[in-house]
Order: sequence, then C-alpha cells, then structure tokens
Amino acid sequence: MENSNPAPVGSFTDGEDGQPGEVPKYAGDMPDEDVDHNPDAAPPEPSAPSLDGLSPIPGYQNIGFSGDFLPPPPCADVVQPPEERKDITNVSVIAEDEARQALRLYVGENCCYGKKPVEELTFTELQSSNAFHYTLDTFTEARSTEWDFVPYMGGPLDGPENGPAPGPWDVPAQCKELFKDEKRDSEVPHTATTKPCHNCFAVGFVRCWHCHGRGQNRCTSCSGSGKRMDDEECSFCNGTGKRDCLTCHSKGNVICKICQGHRILKYYIKLTIKWHKHDDNHIVERTSLPDKLIKKVEGQTAFEETYPRVIFFIIALK
Ligand SMILES: [Zn+2]
Ligand SMILES: [Zn+2]
Ligand SMILES: [Zn+2]
Repeated sequence: MENSNPAPVGSFTDGEDGQPGEVPKYAGDMPDEDVDHNPDAAPPEPSAPSLDGLSPIPGYQNIGFSGDFLPPPPCADVVQPPEERKDITNVSVIAEDEARQALRLYVGENCCYGKKPVEELTFTELQSSNAFHYTLDTFTEARSTEWDFVPYMGGPLDGPENGPAPGPWDVPAQCKELFKDEKRDSEVPHTATTKPCHNCFAVGFVRCWHCHGRGQNRCTSCSGSGKRMDDEECSFCNGTGKRDCLTCHSKGNVICKICQGHRILKYYIKLTIKWHKHDDNHIVERTSLPDKLIKKVEGQTAFEETYPRVIFFIIALK
C-alpha cells in the first residue's frame, strides 16, 4: 500500500501573531501521472497519536486515548431513608353522585350505550381503593479521563511542574442544574505538556490527499485527452486534460488538520463529566384496573423525598 502521508518536504513560513503562514509547494515524491479528479474524495483518517514521549502523570499512569468510567471514591454522607413515614391524610372517598357523573361521562363517550341505566342505577355498595404511583428520579454523575490533544498555539502551559495533578474525583465541578442532563469536558490541572504533531511530522502540512502532491488532477470528463467525443475541445479543462486541484489550491500540500499548521500539539488529561437523569416509575394498585390508566390520573402527592446520596448497585446483565 502506498504511504498516503510521506514526510513532507519544504518549510512553513510563519504568519503573523503566531498563526500558520503559507503552505509551501510540495516538493517530495509523487505519482508519475495525474490522478483522477474526484469530487467525492475525502481526506484520509489522520495517523494515530501515541503516548511515546509523554511523562506519566502520577494517578493517571494507565490511561490512553479513550476514557473508562471511574468509580467514585467511597463516601461517608450516605443517607438512609426514614423507616417510618407520616400517615397519608385527606384520602378522598368517592360519593354516589360523583360515581354517577363519571359513569354518565363514560356512557356519553360511547354513542350506542343506553343512557337510561345511568340515571336509574341504584348503588348497593361503593368501595374506594387507592393507588400509588411512585416516580423515582435519580441524578447521577459519572467521570472518565483520557489523554487528549489540541494544536498548541503558544502561551502558558499548566504542567506537572506546577504541582501534583488532582485525582479525577478531586476536581471540583458543579452541574448547572440538578436533574438535567449535561456533559462537560475540562483539562485536569497540572497535566499539560507539548509534543510534535504526529500527523505531519511537525511541519504543519501534509501532502494533498486528492492530487497526491501534483497540484493538479486528470480531467475525468475527457479522461485526460483534452477532447470531447466529437473531437471538440473539452470545456471542463479547456483542452488541457488537467484540472487544478482545488483541495490544495495547486500547491500539492494541505495544512495538517490535526495541528492546524501549528506543528506542535498540547497534550493534556481530559476529564469528562456526565450528569444524567434516570427516570423510573412504578404503580401499586390492587384492583383489576389497568396500571396505564393510573399513570395518567392526577392525585395528591403522598410523600416526596430527596436524598443527596443513596447506595446503589450496578448489575451487569449479559
Ligand atoms: Zn491537491
Ligand atoms: Zn477535460
Ligand atoms: Zn500536524
């Protein structure tokens, strides 16, 4: 397989304010002939980063470029819910006229139901039954860490020389709103360092993946002949059989998309925090009434409790 990313030749002129300058014209190996112009051509995946040359950060020795969720440290402030709760008061009991009105409404919704029995019905016994609809909202926080990198554009770095890096659960973070999903990435303090860009060998540009460095592509309308079927000049390439490569503006090099031309990458340990609301609910109802009907009705709140931390178990199902 041809190496799609050989070491570039040439140098980058620095632009103003530390910004990358002009990409130089490609001067390395290239195919002998133009490659086909391909409007659907896509850049290749950048080469994979490596951890070589990065000093291990105490507490983060085993991390790579994908984060595993980290168990939180044991906590002391686990709150046990009370064993007894207050009695539920003001429980409503249905009266005869309410029951008759409900039946009247029900019959009214069904066009072929007779209305007479509703009015003449004699109640011999009315039994009230209560149902409970429990809703359990759990708000969880999960943390993971991994190495990440961004183009280094100069400026101060918060590296290990500034002190030991705090553990993933020691970095203070507060969600914006309780019981609302949120994801936040941040840099773990004192973990930043720099490394040359692995994708462009620290020159800031790579050989163009569309024209492979030639700066032009073969015209696909005339297959490079410059002529149409009727022997007239090909209007797509003005008879040259070549088209300027628009991907690299005919330079044969394109700016490195990993370092964005800055040549150096800042590596740091990224902490990802995910706050997530989990909903669960459960119906306790002892008659044959379908539970889904209970879910829809409104009632009084029997009790409402919130605890900062509860013990939970994660059961893995396979
Ligand atoms: Zn090109
Ligand atoms: Zn042509
Ligand atoms: Zn690069």
